Amino acid sequence: MDSNLFQCETKRQWADKELFEQAKSHAYRYIDRLSDANVYPSAEAIDALRIFDEPMPDSPGDAVAVLDLLGTVGSDAAVAQSGGKYFGFVCGSLYPVALAGKWLSDTWDQNSALYVLSPIAAKLEEVCEKWIVDVLGLPEGTAAGFVSGSSVAIICALVVARNEILLRNGWDVHARGLFGAPPIRVVVGTQAHSSVYKALSFIGLGKDRVEFVPVDDQGRMLFEKLPDLDANTLLIIQAGNVNSGAFDPIDALCDAARKAGAWIHIDGAFGLWAAASENTRHLTRGIEKADSWSADAHKTLNAPYDCGIVLVKDADALTRSMQATASYVQYSENRDGMLYTPEMSRRARSIELWATLKYLGRSGLASLVDQLCEHAKYFASRLSRKGFIIANDVVFNQILVQCESPEKTRETLAKLQNSGKLWCGGTVWKDLPAIRISVCSWQTTYEDIDDCVQTLVECRD
Ligand SMILES: *Cc1c(COP(=O)(O)O)cnc(C)c1O
Repeated sequence: MDSNLFQCETKRQWADKELFEQAKSHAYRYIDRLSDANVYPSAEAIDALRIFDEPMPDSPGDAVAVLDLLGTVGSDAAVAQSGGKYFGFVCGSLYPVALAGKWLSDTWDQNSALYVLSPIAAKLEEVCEKWIVDVLGLPEGTAAGFVSGSSVAIICALVVARNEILLRNGWDVHARGLFGAPPIRVVVGTQAHSSVYKALSFIGLGKDRVEFVPVDDQGRMLFEKLPDLDANTLLIIQAGNVNSGAFDPIDALCDAARKAGAWIHIDGAFGLWAAASENTRHLTRGIEKADSWSADAHKTLNAPYDCGIVLVKDADALTRSMQATASYVQYSENRDGMLYTPEMSRRARSIELWATLKYLGRSGLASLVDQLCEHAKYFASRLSRKGFIIANDVVFNQILVQCESPEKTRETLAKLQNSGKLWCGGTVWKDLPAIRISVCSWQTTYEDIDDCVQTLVECRD
């Protein structure tokens, strides 16, 4: 096609909005069947994805056909994570206001690297930072960077920790790198999340040279087994074990680490939000004593993917580590997002995050956290009444379920994953297989849970 004609045709699509209407009706159809369709796509729907295996087209296609392919074959193979019966991993749904806000911001297509690139994205980053620091009870002045998820948030926080510990030793990592630098000790619980090890390996601290703290039967670090710490130590604490949902004894660990002058990071991907409710705040007691935190808004908070948050008490320490300069970069007196994150160009996730927080307010956020916990407890008690073994103390939103034998657990999990009626993942807990249920969606109701318990019973029996 002649390039001029192609541009005219594309401009017409932008102006007449037919494509957007088409996308809207596909989206509405998805929303309407979310509650009654399979939670997991059928084997046929997944098989149909083969249609995407084709060579890159030689010439421009028909935009309506492109979108239709997504709206039919694509949509049929989507996993209903935003519904009420998805309990896999720790996923979280999304609120209507956040989805709608994201649609709007997608239309704006803002780049949040610099204030001059997007004053609205910068303003909302500033507001979200203030609100999150406040609602979690973190020290005033704590800075937040908005990244894709906790994996990146942890990398950022550990980079800051590494750089600051070395700076105190008179070693500038930016200039000199790590070769010949004074050693940094890293202390973690034996059940630290895999993303912590990934971060350690990324940033040159190594995942095999960490000092492990043994854990109790819920996966919590045993405080009395904490080694002596010093000012060259990075202690990584967990608020929310990815299997059991348990929280390390944060307050005691922080006190000991502070006394020694160690850097404290808290991985609170889904658990940090416990601080937002009076009923669960005790689990996070002492978090304000840490130096850095990482959390996901796309899990417990039910903000859309992708939304991770790195928080650092010393705002200058965060910007020192994330800084970049180039002749064309135009910093301002206002918030320049790229000073807080590794990326330069970055989507403006602050927009839908703000919409979520503004919609929920303090009490809405607290009720969300309470609801997830109450639903998890209800789920566990129903399962227990039906003869399932609940292998963890259900303190937050995670439930570990076992049958009378490991084989039966494995069989039941396979059957329920094949049923399509709900979705849970599996894990290994104390050397035995377990069905892992994470109640993380605002959509889940007591009726959903009753249905799911029934399905679990049928799969087992
Ligand atoms: C999910 C999770 C992570 C990783 O977060 P992503 O957003 O998936 O990158 C890290 N730590 C814990 C405890 C988690 O639950």
